[in-house]
Amino acid sequence: MTDGPTYGFDTLQIHAGARPDPATGARQTPIYQSTAFVFRDAEHAAALFNLQEVGYIYSRLTNPTVAVLQERIATLEGGVGAVCCSSGHAAQLMALFPLMAPGLNVVVSTRLYGGTVTQFSQTIKRFGWEATFVDFDDLDAVKAAIDDNTRAIFCEAIANPGGYITDLDAISAIADAAEIPLIVDNTSATPYLCRPIEHGATLVVHSTTKYLTGNGTVTGGCVVDSGKFDWSANDKFPSLSAPEPAYHGLKFHETFGPLAFTFHGIAIGLRDLGMTMNPQAAHYTLMGTETLSLRMDRHVENAVKIAQWLEKDDRVDYVTYAGLKSSPYFDRVKTICPRGAGGLFTFAVKGGYDACVKLVNALEIFSHVANLGDARSLIIHSASTTHRQLTAEQQRAAGAAPEVVRVSIGIEDADDLIADLDQALSKAVS
Ligand SMILES: *Cc1c(COP(=O)(O)O)cnc(C)c1O
Repeated sequence: MTDGPTYGFDTLQIHAGARPDPATGARQTPIYQSTAFVFRDAEHAAALFNLQEVGYIYSRLTNPTVAVLQERIATLEGGVGAVCCSSGHAAQLMALFPLMAPGLNVVVSTRLYGGTVTQFSQTIKRFGWEATFVDFDDLDAVKAAIDDNTRAIFCEAIANPGGYITDLDAISAIADAAEIPLIVDNTSATPYLCRPIEHGATLVVHSTTKYLTGNGTVTGGCVVDSGKFDWSANDKFPSLSAPEPAYHGLKFHETFGPLAFTFHGIAIGLRDLGMTMNPQAAHYTLMGTETLSLRMDRHVENAVKIAQWLEKDDRVDYVTYAGLKSSPYFDRVKTICPRGAGGLFTFAVKGGYDACVKLVNALEIFSHVANLGDARSLIIHSASTTHRQLTAEQQRAAGAAPEVVRVSIGIEDADDLIADLDQALSKAVS
């Protein structure tokens, strides 16, 4: 299918990137379970290796099934290209890799997925990279955190936990003024609820493990490029603007224009870091994307109903969901996520830590797991699991206070989910 602005989201989520298989006519995208692809002749092989012709060489770099998913996610996000990789965390490294070098830093929001906080505060130091954590509601603090060595700003559109929505327009204006790219993790919102590129993002990263796949089967990640950043405006981004020794002095930006970041991600990032998505995973995620809008509408509808019910319940102290009028981010949702605030939120149970543990044990439909964005409803008590190494004070700062549970509302019947929470709350709070 030739995709264009004339097609709506529901059409693109099924068709973008896909075409009947040229060899067999297969209508569904085949799983090209092949490591290598035969060259037509020696000249064809040479042209592929010189990046003079686009094609398939070896599945660490490119694979036809994965390529369909890349084109589909790029289209849904309104980007020019995308690179899929083995997980959301891999995507974050793949997004930063062309921008960073020892001694350089990235300015990041304090409100991030817990695993990302660890990746940025601990692991990237081993590469000589630094992350400066700032409250992204304090725009002056974001500006003040940027220095000559800053090469990117990183945040989540909807940050979990805690129902936080980032003012992407304000943050992208700061990035533009500093001539650095804004990277937005759009995992919790998906391109159906939020399109960060329309709010000024340069790059969008995803954990496709979550809503894009939507059924908890495979891990994956994706980096989408808006194609809008001028990598050659100054000498801050030599990986993209300066001659690349591994390709006989080729300059990615000069040669590939708006696709420079995507080509670099495949030709250098996947080639040398090897964090590749496998074709089976791409297949499951392609299946998921076909129903993305239908599922997200139901996730949002259920989350609103359940959050409203919990907010009125005596056994609950507070609910943090940006889709509730009581949320400080309720108005921001309308501009950043016009179709709803997503399916994740936290709530505080009267009785604190012990009551949360009892609640989690008593639930029957909700599963107690460290995951989100599944068709089924999930719950986690962060203080006794993912955040148990932290002090109560640190847990509170991370939005994972001892009395709080996080839910990822699924697409089951809302009435059944409410009944399940009702019976479990009775057992948890006496
Ligand atoms: C899960 C998640 C990640 C990490 O993705 P993996 O696929 O688990 O590596 C990053 N950001 C957000 C918002 C997530 O929910």
